[in-house]
Amino acid sequence: MTHVVTLIPGDGTGPEIVEATRRAIEATGVEIRWDVQDIGTAAIEKHGTPFPQAALDSVRRNKVALKGPLTTELGTGFRSVNVALRKEFDLYANLRPARTIKGVRAPVGDVDLVIVRENIEDLYAGIEFDLGTPELAEVRAAIEKAARTTIRHDAAIAIKYISEMGSKRIVEFAFDYARANGRRKVTAVHKANIMKFADGLFLRVAREVAERYPDIEFEDRIVDNMCMQLVQKPDLYDVLVLPNLYGDIVSDLAAGLVGGLGVAPGANIGSEVAVFEAIHGSAPKYARQNKVNPMALMLAGSLMLRHMGERKAGERLERSIEDVVSEGRDVTYDLKAERDDPTAVGTSEFADAVIRRMGGRVHA
Ligand code: NAD
Repeated sequence: MTHVVTLIPGDGTGPEIVEATRRAIEATGVEIRWDVQDIGTAAIEKHGTPFPQAALDSVRRNKVALKGPLTTELGTGFRSVNVALRKEFDLYANLRPARTIKGVRAPVGDVDLVIVRENIEDLYAGIEFDLGTPELAEVRAAIEKAARTTIRHDAAIAIKYISEMGSKRIVEFAFDYARANGRRKVTAVHKANIMKFADGLFLRVAREVAERYPDIEFEDRIVDNMCMQLVQKPDLYDVLVLPNLYGDIVSDLAAGLVGGLGVAPGANIGSEVAVFEAIHGSAPKYARQNKVNPMALMLAGSLMLRHMGERKAGERLERSIEDVVSEGRDVTYDLKAERDDPTAVGTSEFADAVIRRMGGRVHA
């Protein structure tokens, strides 16, 4: 069966790492027809908008997209093209695996975590009121009356909301992921001791959902304690599920534990559409230099293959990337002990090494 995947080259170094990843995915033998679409800066130049209808229709139709990083500060009228994409397709789950890879310098040894972050709600929903606006005065007055409290007049306000529906679907996602991927435990992370209603709701819903998955262990942790434990005893944890704000911070912490953002894949998944990407940005200063490391996007490609039901191909791709990295020879500058090591290879040559590792032929 031929899969159809929307391919978004992205900005800066995006097109180079996307091309490297496309070639590596094709070398697994899985048949894919790539529907190439521009979103972001490239789309503004060609179509006058960062979100051309044709690109959005393609993602909606194909349901799976592989995306290069998008530059944010565009003056597009969007706070962030990435955030707008999440909202457009209701990509409520941010999946961020973090696993120690031999050959990647990392501060701690044995990490194998999967972070599941809620992507839509919480303090990041964008409900904010700025100083000096009539809306702020109105909201402050309403809150002061309802909460029988006072808020300083020189305070801006941001609203945190967490819903039952939003919590239920993200916790279910975490348990379903754990089940489908042979994981043993889900840990819900919160601050319900202080935020009794919003985080309290998240924790209550998590406990209710956990009862329906008796085959998977469940526990909860308070977010500050979780951070400390992740640094000291990461091996105690497996799948973590968190509301948006904590998920944002803890997923970067987990990426740091395994060697930084440059090696970490991610996916934004909704009930209809899934978009796979690297965690790092478009590194524009290295654009068109065949220099940066494509492994984070390649690992996202491996997640994508698994998501499409091509589990074996996903595992093979991941193993081949790890083999090349642990060997340490055909790797990009960032994975060498010295950053100016002249034996470092380029983006494209790293892909060649991964392809050869899978038994594939590299075309000059
Ligand atoms: P960045 O991740 O693009 O780059 C920071 C530095 O990290 C680079 O200068 C480089 O030294 C290193 N780096 C990043 N990726 C690397 C790779 N693959 N290989 C080797 N080294 C790598 O972060 P930034 O400079 O803060 O952001 C640049 C742009 O990307 C901004 O517009 C930002 O908003 C955007 N961004 C997009 C995404 C996304 O699309 N998901 C994520 C983060 C940032």
